[in-house]
Amino acid sequence: MNRFTNKVVVITGAGNGIGAAAAKRFSSGGATVVAADYVMDDVKKLAASLPSDRTFAVFVDVSDAKAVENMIAETVKRCGKLDVMINNAGVHVIGSILETTLDDWRRISAINIDGVVFGAKYSLPHLIKSKGCMINTASVSGLGGDWGAAFYCASKGAVANLTRAMALDHGLSGVRINAVCPSLVKTNMTKGFDAAVQEKFNERIPLGRAAQPEEVASVMAFLASDDASFINGACIPVDGGTTASDGQPK
Ligand code: NAD
Repeated sequence: MNRFTNKVVVITGAGNGIGAAAAKRFSSGGATVVAADYVMDDVKKLAASLPSDRTFAVFVDVSDAKAVENMIAETVKRCGKLDVMINNAGVHVIGSILETTLDDWRRISAINIDGVVFGAKYSLPHLIKSKGCMINTASVSGLGGDWGAAFYCASKGAVANLTRAMALDHGLSGVRINAVCPSLVKTNMTKGFDAAVQEKFNERIPLGRAAQPEEVASVMAFLASDDASFINGACIPVDGGTTASDGQPK
């Protein structure tokens, strides 16, 4: 079903994992996809698997405001408009506030918070023109606290609440702004987690398994489609039921 024909979609962090799955999903729906990442080899590899006439592999470091502004301006110059902005690039750091450093905080906040702020700030004027939508990748770690990931939780909490606040401010412009909040997804980000951390996650997911990146990408596609025309300001758990728990042990 080509429900995204003639739609222009920018996806950050598109070189791997959820972003790559989203690029494939929107592309298979007919969209023109601007796949952006700071690892050019990865995003070029992804782009090679998609139609060359409507795929652009672009270098961007989302923590660089000017670079994000340029990427969006270049997209609009090249494609004439922007319909869907997916602020997805992100990094993780394991550890409590005492186990992690201020450099860890600066890095994670620069990518996970600033990156979404820059993507939102520079895409919104174009989304208002196209009556488009924005989707931010938050996390269940942004909906509540999580053990041993203080900075990551703080960064994703900021993404979730920025999403809500922007949805309030810009709803009357006809732009919808939502977030997806995955729990554990099988990507490079989580491959590095040690066995104990993986086990802890799996125990807390009622479906008993991690998600595949495609299971998050399909929710992004739904949110960008007309089927979600009345969904705005939502932070949607894509978590196999994790946040349905009241926190009591099994
Ligand atoms: P991933 O590591 O597979 O992919 C992340 C991509 O983002 C990589 O290609 C990386 O190069 C890119 N990236 C990182 N920093 C960047 C920067 N400064 N500029 C441009 N690109 C950058 O990870 P993923 O699991 O696909 O993560 C995607 C998003 O999903 C992240 O925001 C992450 O926090 C979020 N998330 C992931 C999980 C999970 O379990 N994997 C759970 C909840 C939320």
